[in-house]
Amino acid sequence: MQTLLSISFGELFLKGANRKTFFNNALSHILANIKDIGYEDTYVESAKLYIKASEDKFDDLIKEIEKVFGIAYIDEVYRVDKNLDDIFDAAKYIVEKNYSEVNYTFKADTTRVDKSFEFDSPKINAMLGDYLLDEFDNLSVDIHNPDFKVYVDIKNNAYVYSKRHKGLGGLPIGSSGEGLLLLSGGIDSPVAGFMMAKRGMRVNAVHFHSYPFTSKQAHQKAEDLAKLMSYYTGPLKFYSVNLANIYKEIATNCDRRETTILSRRFMMRISNLIAEKYAYQAFITGESLGQVASQTLESITVIEESAKFPILRPLIALDKQDIINTAINIGTYDKSIEPFDDCCSIFAPDKPVTKPKFKYIQRSEEKLDIQKLVDEAIDTMEIIEI
Ligand code: ATP
Ligand code: MG
Repeated sequence: MQTLLSISFGELFLKGANRKTFFNNALSHILANIKDIGYEDTYVESAKLYIKASEDKFDDLIKEIEKVFGIAYIDEVYRVDKNLDDIFDAAKYIVEKNYSEVNYTFKADTTRVDKSFEFDSPKINAMLGDYLLDEFDNLSVDIHNPDFKVYVDIKNNAYVYSKRHKGLGGLPIGSSGEGLLLLSGGIDSPVAGFMMAKRGMRVNAVHFHSYPFTSKQAHQKAEDLAKLMSYYTGPLKFYSVNLANIYKEIATNCDRRETTILSRRFMMRISNLIAEKYAYQAFITGESLGQVASQTLESITVIEESAKFPILRPLIALDKQDIINTAINIGTYDKSIEPFDDCCSIFAPDKPVTKPKFKYIQRSEEKLDIQKLVDEAIDTMEIIEI
């Protein structure tokens, strides 16, 4: 018996002109996620992806495949020759292995793709049900609400299985355009990137650091977060921009209480240039209303004025605890709470303005050579493929 994982995709995969692209994206995403775990081979048979692998690798493989959006189910299957004896043997093996300890109800659930097979699905269900009832005293049939199902798919091969894992849902990456996430080293922004990717957006990241005022570790932390996010988003571009000079200029020339707002506006201007050059359609931030001084409506309004693209804020209405829970679930939380400060915490004023007025901010910016500072930051930008 060959052991495999079979992957069923959500509806969007099966429809429309982009079907092939979505499928290929998902396939390369899955293969990238599992390449270090080990599998033998993959192939497609009537709309499902099959991954040949030994059973002891299943748990590790499933954990990584579950991070790919657009998947409906992952099944742990046994492939056998297309005859009743082998199908029944496989079913018996599955029950012995998983359902022999206590009393269980079950149901046989056959899909006959190969219509030339000699028995139809209801007949196979009935025969397999009788066979298992004969073999196991602890089993009884419940067709409405069984404890487990024995699935049989009759295709070129026959597949027998019962262990099914639900996929993450969401839309396949690439189905909702491409965006640029402003990725700090905090808890929130990776969660924001995850949420937009779940809606099918291809997500890239820009990180602003202030080396040498901030450490190499702080930069590495943001890059590590991008890597953790990429298990969900697929490969991404990581733009690393140095804001040290800009912070220095702000500190020398402007009211310290405006530092956060002014630096955020620089982040937006720099992001505008990146998005224009690489054809990204929107920005994503981890802002949540009222969480800190720079996230009041007044601050958001003044920051947004400098952005030329829509700013998507998937966390805007979430409580911190809910954001933390998601961060834990997707595996970014532990990295996010490592104690390396990004630029914002180092230059952050003790008493930031919470209700900035646009005309005062503009007046401060008149003291800065904005064009030159932005150009310098872009010229020294690094691009890392994650
Ligand atoms: P996070 O946990 O994502 O850092 P936060 O609660 O600390 O968020 P802020 O520091 O006010 O909130 O940042 C708000 C948003 O601005 C972040 O979620 C992120 O999208 C963006 N941002 C802040 N600092 C940076 C940075 N150094 N590089 C890139 N984006 C940043
Ligand atoms: Mg932050």
